[in-house]
Amino acid sequence: MLPEASSLWLLRLLRDIQLAQFYRPILEELNVTRPEHFDFVKPEDLDGIGMGRPAQRRLAEALKKYRLGVKSKNWVYKILGSFAPEQKETTPPSVSLPSLSESEGRLKCLIPEGAVCRGELLGSGCFGVVHRGLWTLPSGQSVPVAVKSLRVGPEGPVGTELGDFLREVSVMMKLEHPHVLRLHGLVLGQPLQMVMELAPLGSLHARLTDPAPTPPLPVALLCLFLRQLAGAMAYLGARGLVHRDLATRNLLLASPRTIKVADFGLVRPLGGARGRYVMGGPRPIPYAWCAPESLRQGAFSSASDVWMFGVTLWEMFSGGEEPWAGVPPYLILQRLEKDRARLPRPPLCSRALYSLALRCWAPHPADRPSFSCLEGLLQEAWPSEGRCVRNVTEPGALRMEPGDPITIIEGSSSAVSISLLEPQLIHREPFVLVELSVHGVTHQECQTALRATGGDVVSAIRNLKVDQLFHLSNRSRADCWRILEHHQWDLSAASRYVLARS
Ligand code: AMP
Repeated sequence: MLPEASSLWLLRLLRDIQLAQFYRPILEELNVTRPEHFDFVKPEDLDGIGMGRPAQRRLAEALKKYRLGVKSKNWVYKILGSFAPEQKETTPPSVSLPSLSESEGRLKCLIPEGAVCRGELLGSGCFGVVHRGLWTLPSGQSVPVAVKSLRVGPEGPVGTELGDFLREVSVMMKLEHPHVLRLHGLVLGQPLQMVMELAPLGSLHARLTDPAPTPPLPVALLCLFLRQLAGAMAYLGARGLVHRDLATRNLLLASPRTIKVADFGLVRPLGGARGRYVMGGPRPIPYAWCAPESLRQGAFSSASDVWMFGVTLWEMFSGGEEPWAGVPPYLILQRLEKDRARLPRPPLCSRALYSLALRCWAPHPADRPSFSCLEGLLQEAWPSEGRCVRNVTEPGALRMEPGDPITIIEGSSSAVSISLLEPQLIHREPFVLVELSVHGVTHQECQTALRATGGDVVSAIRNLKVDQLFHLSNRSRADCWRILEHHQWDLSAASRYVLARS
């Protein structure tokens, strides 16, 4: 077969260094048709086509000379050049592909077009469509993946979309974190395709807005997602990157309890001494998620990502509602700055978590907590968890059985909300909660106990349980408290214990 004119340079270059036998494998298996494509080729790729390390060094030398001689005007190079698709030095651990062999689990930057087959459409973003796909490794093993293809207009790829697409590739190539979506490689075909880790459960936003009968996500799980997100964002920040589009639509569910940050099309390196990125020209930006300085001056930083984290938290606890719905985009900045308005506390969001969101929305970027600080603050705001201790069958109450997990969102306020991990979330008046929790107490006793604790439900429940045990036995109140504590406040178990010893 005759070499195509566009790849003659490759044949000549390989002939010059006596490696012409690799012309076809490089062209057909690695899909390299331009010198810049070698930016994505790893030594392992060349190993894979049987090229020894000394030959690889010869090739690298020859390429360097060739590229010094040819000032490339190629579009891929032009865009990626400044963004430095630096070679990874380390082999990422195969977090999401535990069954792959060591060499196959590595990031393969160039994937032959024929090795990927696209299936059902998963979604579409600003510069491409995403399909479910299967990637067949050289060993024949198939890996489920997501394939993002660059949207191509009648005259080829559109400038900014192409730039964002390639920037997303070059950013993702360098990332390796359990809560950051992983890039497997790039297909240099028509269209250009990114082969990524598949998040089989789709976006968090879609899950949050799933209609009934899908049960809402439990509060404790949302808190876990927030912690995962803060960790991933701290990782990005430490690498000098700002995401600029943090929102539940860009968090993907890799498993029911694992989110991954995705969509790196707007990610930028933090330039300058002030650690800020200032937008060059008019671009669509997600107004309702943006910090005031981003809306006013197009300035983005880790602190503006923290602001977006606060909005993402708000979305999570609002069931995926749109922030500032009904407020025209041009008025959002005014609402934030002049009126000092903030998104309201969603009913399922504890006061502790909401005050954390308010800190993320501090007017001055320097006053916002960092992501690593947020990881600790989230730990402090973690809701208490417990288990139901008796059957709840009273009319009007949600049926609960002993052992049902309970998350206490607010334990000392007048409006108490309790979320049951299964089967759904409930809201109850405090005295109802107390009544449900302490066997045999009257309505009147509950109200008196609540008054005595200033509305603190948990303390009221404990005091009433101590009273019940005290009346049942000949022990002191202090003893009853100790026994109940020992039995994790399970009144039945504590009663059995004292009765057996009386
Ligand atoms: P994007 O272009 O990144 O905004 O992606 C558009 C949509 O495609 C997302 O909202 C998801 O629903 C879906 N999607 C993107 N990447 C993946 C993935 N890796 N796994 C599953 N679905 C994805």
